[in-house]
Amino acid sequence: MAPAAEPLTPRSAAMSPFDTWSAPSRRRVSAVRDRLRQVYGIPIVRPHGDGIAELILTVLSQSTNDRNRDVAYLGLRERFPEWEQVRDAPVDEVEAAIRPGGISKVKSARIRAILAAVTDTGPEPGSLALDWLATVSVPEAQAYLCSLPGVGRKTAACVLLFAYGMRDVPVDTHVSRVGTRLGWFRPRAGFEELHDAMLELTPRGQEWELHINLLRHGRRTCTAQRPRCRACALRRMCPSADAV
Ligand code: SF4
Repeated sequence: MAPAAEPLTPRSAAMSPFDTWSAPSRRRVSAVRDRLRQVYGIPIVRPHGDGIAELILTVLSQSTNDRNRDVAYLGLRERFPEWEQVRDAPVDEVEAAIRPGGISKVKSARIRAILAAVTDTGPEPGSLALDWLATVSVPEAQAYLCSLPGVGRKTAACVLLFAYGMRDVPVDTHVSRVGTRLGWFRPRAGFEELHDAMLELTPRGQEWELHINLLRHGRRTCTAQRPRCRACALRRMCPSADAV
């Protein structure tokens, strides 16, 4: 059993711990990583190498749960086995295939727009592929993905990390909430800043572990409503414990 970590931020009844915010030290981040590792282990995952699939899956995940996302994705692949077929299909047929995932009108238009843009703007015009991203720098790959219709930093990070194992970290609602409560992010930081900060504080090679374990912690313990601070393994190192 590891020794209990000291509280990371001095508390005062008169002052919020975030009133004097400063970026966390590597030691603070490592302490959280180690504690999460004790609770959830080290996830064993490998990049799957399919950037288009990850891109479309991430679009389908918006505003729905994992189960509905997966049903929509499988429905799409069953109806259109090739991505070129999705790109070229009437939008109402794509919409029907992904309907279980919710807001299918918006998502179907976006998916087709993204696939058309990838076809038109990649280094090999006419090719519907993203594998070349693995051969360029992370900033270059991020910039390209964020130039696609409706694609932002989170979606770009999912593609780069989960498909190609590149150094990026998605900041979803759980990672954002837990990181903010831990004092890792500047209060009221925007989405772009959250991603830059998360990347900066994540130890190299531990992008996947930190993302997944923060997400697990956000789902199981540090929930949006009524976080379970008294049962939380991070309690001693969290400036928000019992204050949310
Ligand atoms: S102590 Fe509470 S606010 Fe802090 S990480 Fe744990 S559950 Fe979240």
